Amino acid sequence: MKLFIASLATETNTFAPLPTGRPAFLADYARRDGSRNPPRLSNIGLIAWRRLAEADGHEVVESLSTFAQPGGITLRAVYEDLRDALLADLKAAGPVDAVLLFMHGAMVAEGYDDCEGDTLARVRGIVGPGVPVGVELDLHCHLTETMRQAADVMVIYKEYPHTDIVARARDLYPLVIAAAEGRIRPVMAYADCRMVSLWRTSDPPVRRFVDRMSAAEGRDGILSVSFGHGFPWADVADVGAKMLVVADGDEAAAAALARSLAAEVWAMREEAATPYVTIDAAIDRALACDDPRPMVLADVADNAGAGAPSDNTAILRRLVARGVRDAASGLYWDPGAVGICREAGIGARFTLRVGGKCGVTSGDPVDLAVTVRGLADDHSQAGLSGGRALLGPSAWVEADGIHLVLTSQRQQPFDPDAFTGLGLTLHDKRLVVVKSMQHFHAAFAGLASAVLYVAAPGAVPPDFAALPLTKKAGPWWPRDPNPFGAA
Ligand SMILES: [Zn+2]
Repeated sequence: MKLFIASLATETNTFAPLPTGRPAFLADYARRDGSRNPPRLSNIGLIAWRRLAEADGHEVVESLSTFAQPGGITLRAVYEDLRDALLADLKAAGPVDAVLLFMHGAMVAEGYDDCEGDTLARVRGIVGPGVPVGVELDLHCHLTETMRQAADVMVIYKEYPHTDIVARARDLYPLVIAAAEGRIRPVMAYADCRMVSLWRTSDPPVRRFVDRMSAAEGRDGILSVSFGHGFPWADVADVGAKMLVVADGDEAAAAALARSLAAEVWAMREEAATPYVTIDAAIDRALACDDPRPMVLADVADNAGAGAPSDNTAILRRLVARGVRDAASGLYWDPGAVGICREAGIGARFTLRVGGKCGVTSGDPVDLAVTVRGLADDHSQAGLSGGRALLGPSAWVEADGIHLVLTSQRQQPFDPDAFTGLGLTLHDKRLVVVKSMQHFHAAFAGLASAVLYVAAPGAVPPDFAALPLTKKAGPWWPRDPNPFGAA
């Protein structure tokens, strides 16, 4: 068989002050040979598919491999060029037996609220109705009817933090092969949860739900079950949570299971909600803690992984004002400050203006008397599902016991080596502030006395009822306390 594989992905925060242009995609980009490169977010699904396909003796034709750091709306010409390159490669490949695509599910470009649906419909137009099209998606996706109609099988990450990207790629592959060989006939159904929120699979109620949902796979004709959490910070019609079930030929069975699982998500809404702590209460708890391990404070509203600039100073300002020592915080996206530190060199002492540069949600910059403690020309950290995530030229500076990591590439901290890679230790700190919504949890929870989610201002505040969503039809929770009405 001949398999066509490609990735084209980003997550779009339509409210973010950072347009997503060509360099954002070129930072993690290859064409035709990306799966032969070291693993990164763009290619880890493709690497898995190539290995599986070659072990089975199939021919692989590969197109794009690209994943842009989440940001604002993608420029129209950039999306169209990438999409058209993928489609041109598909046409040039001639007849193929199956298509496997790695996408995000929440990519928005100027003029395209549903980039995945647009791309998938065009892929379907090229391959025709008989060739299975399989798609792997991030769980922060907008599941649209266009996508459901155009694809045969969609498999979504089950974990948040996303530690299962490769595992889900491995789930998708045999379903697409079986469909190509005519051994199964996948059909898909959604159920709308009528909710806009976040679900952390590290929390016990969500963990139990994901385990129950997964247990339904592989029996009674159910091929795959996914919970599309949705990506809240996007003003598109299909924003919000949906259950997705893939069944073998029986769409009614898929729809029934999707509805019953969606009802479970609705029922656990209060239990699954994250408690947020004010900045000063979080600092108080960290300072009062007897446990020698650091308390980890998540600066959720400045999460680069949801399109935030990662330069908000609200927590830093309180740390400085309160004279807190033995604190570490990062990652501040501040290429200008990094350049000044590199110019000055390790050991230099001067006043540095940190953060607060990208927009009103960044707050004001903070001027600190710093000492440069560490520098790297080419910093990186362990990626979420393998490989390395690049941070570019970076600096560790200290100001009166507050240690900051400044980077040139905008990214949330996935792993402690984002700090320790510069020589900064974390085990001896009272508190560690991570600019991340949830992905930090996989690698930081083990070193923390506790994890607190902080209600600080920023570009991605988790105040879902207040999000200015204008395109979503019908009532939704939490803006409406009961979107399902009296029924
Ligand atoms: Zn995600």
